[in-house]
Amino acid sequence: MAEKYTITGHTKVFCIIGHPVEHSMSPTMWNPALQELGLDYVYVAYDVHPDNLEKAVEAIRVFGIRGANVTIPHKNPIMKFLDEIDPIAEKMGAINTVKNEDGYLKATNTDAPGAKKSFIDAGCSIEGKSILFLGSGGAARSIAYLFSEEAKKIVLTDIIEERAVIIANEIKKNMDAHIEGKIANEKNIANLIKQTDILINATPIGMYPNIDLTPISKDLLHDELFVFDVIYNPMETKLMKDAAEVGCETLSGLDMLINQGVIAFEWFTGKTPNSKLMKNKIIEFLGIK
Ligand code: NAP
Repeated sequence: MAEKYTITGHTKVFCIIGHPVEHSMSPTMWNPALQELGLDYVYVAYDVHPDNLEKAVEAIRVFGIRGANVTIPHKNPIMKFLDEIDPIAEKMGAINTVKNEDGYLKATNTDAPGAKKSFIDAGCSIEGKSILFLGSGGAARSIAYLFSEEAKKIVLTDIIEERAVIIANEIKKNMDAHIEGKIANEKNIANLIKQTDILINATPIGMYPNIDLTPISKDLLHDELFVFDVIYNPMETKLMKDAAEVGCETLSGLDMLINQGVIAFEWFTGKTPNSKLMKNKIIEFLGIK
């Protein structure tokens, strides 16, 4: 059992900045993990209006905030104020983690590595696989960037074809990947899914409170698929339930959420947090099943 935690004059700060930020799960999962390891830090959330982003970056330096996570809408605009960005995050054009080394701010993106770690933990290799994405927004974009290093083929789809095509072309150019963008209509999905090994839902369809919705008809699923839903609330979406009934293996976005935090935690502190504790704290906080 960890000793009772007390904030003192020595206590250092980690934070998340976003706008809005109140919904963030990060303080909920970071603080218990920091306390369990006896690390003298607190993790807080700051709502930073886009107009104040540059000042907020200066505040990270001035206040000696040791590390910051970054969420919507700052993941791209913050990049120009930082000192060093890891090459793949630079290509993605989005960071979510900033480490303060004596005022020198280094950044990376742990979202997609969090997804990749979740696949590895679930025993699903990405190498040589055909991957179909439903939805081509921010989550799809960062995962597709990283997974394109190993996948045989990636198809991004979206209800607006142009979105999928633009991102696919951008990734193809930056990563030398086999990737294309298509419209997400029933006919296309029905054809594409036959040659798909990994199906990724990167739409918000099925997210709380719309838990009875699914982005794809159960009839289109087949038992060779590995199905990953980026949604973390509920923990098991309708898509995942349908897929499990068809005989597919499934993975929840909750694992990605925890693992992006685990990777940032290790980078900031050099210590491995208790990921089960982090997961349980989120489950408890959200009351999810
Ligand atoms: P986003 O930028 O809004 O992207 C979703 C995209 O999917 C939009 O372009 C949307 O189009 C499109 N879409 C909606 N319905 C579709 C359908 N039936 N078929 C194909 N495309 C469809 O959202 P995001 O930031 O990428 O987030 C997506 C989900 O991932 C959210 O539920 C978010 O909470 C979750 N997420 C989870 C994690 C994690 O750590 N687990 C991290 C990031 C995000 P319209 O905008 O026109 O509807």
